[in-house]
Amino acid sequence: RSRRSLERDMRSALVQGDFRLAYQPLVNLQTRKVTAFEALMRWHHPERGPVPPSEFIPVAEEMGLIMQLGEWALRQGCMEAVHWPEEINLSVNLSPVQFAKGNLVSTVMSALASSGLPASRLELEITESVLLEKSERNIRILNHLRALGVRISMDDFGTGYSSIGYLRSFPFDKIKIDQSFVQDVLVDKGSLAIVRAIAGLGVSFGMKTTAEGVETEEQMRCLNREGCTEVQGYLLSKPVPPAELAGLLQQLNTNAASVSDS
Ligand code: C2E
Ligand code: CA
Ligand code: CA
Repeated sequence: RSRRSLERDMRSALVQGDFRLAYQPLVNLQTRKVTAFEALMRWHHPERGPVPPSEFIPVAEEMGLIMQLGEWALRQGCMEAVHWPEEINLSVNLSPVQFAKGNLVSTVMSALASSGLPASRLELEITESVLLEKSERNIRILNHLRALGVRISMDDFGTGYSSIGYLRSFPFDKIKIDQSFVQDVLVDKGSLAIVRAIAGLGVSFGMKTTAEGVETEEQMRCLNREGCTEVQGYLLSKPVPPAELAGLLQQLNTNAASVSDS
């Protein structure tokens, strides 16, 4: 019954415009400058309060509502990002369901055209599951997206099926190392070995590597030593509402300047 009511509420939330995007920065480890903001969906339910995406995205995927929700996130993100400094990219998460149904390429084209955001400033995050089923068709879609000038990132790498062969089937621009390895990198030799191996793959394939879920300075120093190119996590910032972006950017860039001075 609770699922059923979640479904119903999500439909009306979509109509009423109750979904929001929060943005979390990705920072270059060398320059300490913000390279991109990842758009993360937020839903404040009138009675339940905030519902985490880990709860509502799977339900939206099952009921097909992810098509509209995903398109909304793409359009909304592009509309907001076009006002950011032009060296800062927008990263948007895609559900595997968006590959299976509808026409993802034309949705992306339309979001770019109507916002005026250059394709080169859009990064799309996909998980390995996109390459698991109907992979030939999905690789064709990825190549079309790439041809538009959009960048493609492999999200949550190291979890799931983790076939390294996927890296050969499509030239990803970026690998995002799953938080679970990053959070244990200082205490677990196995996690360190995996982070090191993924950073090495990144170098060999010419892909950026972003460590997700970085919470401490020690973790960041270790990730830098291991050759990761970018970090994302609470250490730098939690996801913030759009109104706080300008202030956050200023603060992070001041930090970047003081790091490069010292
Ligand atoms: P994700 O794409 O792996 O996003 C990263 C998640 O880790 C976010 O959770 C973020 O708030 C959280 N996080 C970031 N830094 C840290 C840290 O230092 N420590 C810890 N403990 N957590 C950190 P969030 O926002 O709850 O999103 C969860 C998942 O929901 C996302 O995981 C993504 O898979 C999905 N999601 C969110 N927005 C969208 C969307 O617009 N479309 C789709 N398809 N999925 C989305
Ligand atoms: Ca992501
Ligand atoms: Ca992730």
